[in-house]
Amino acid sequence: MKGRMRRCGTDGTYTLAERCPTCGRPTASAHPPRFSPEDRYGRYRRLVS
Ligand SMILES: [Zn+2]
Repeated sequence: MKGRMRRCGTDGTYTLAERCPTCGRPTASAHPPRFSPEDRYGRYRRLVS
């Protein structure tokens, strides 16, 4: 899992596709980029080493 999950704003379906498998509308990123947990880990490792 890499936080590339997308979500349909119409029916709330979570998917990896750019279009909702349920209604066929374009999906939006489920998580804003600035809340990436990977970035947080990267910073932590940099501080430790
Ligand atoms: Zn949908």
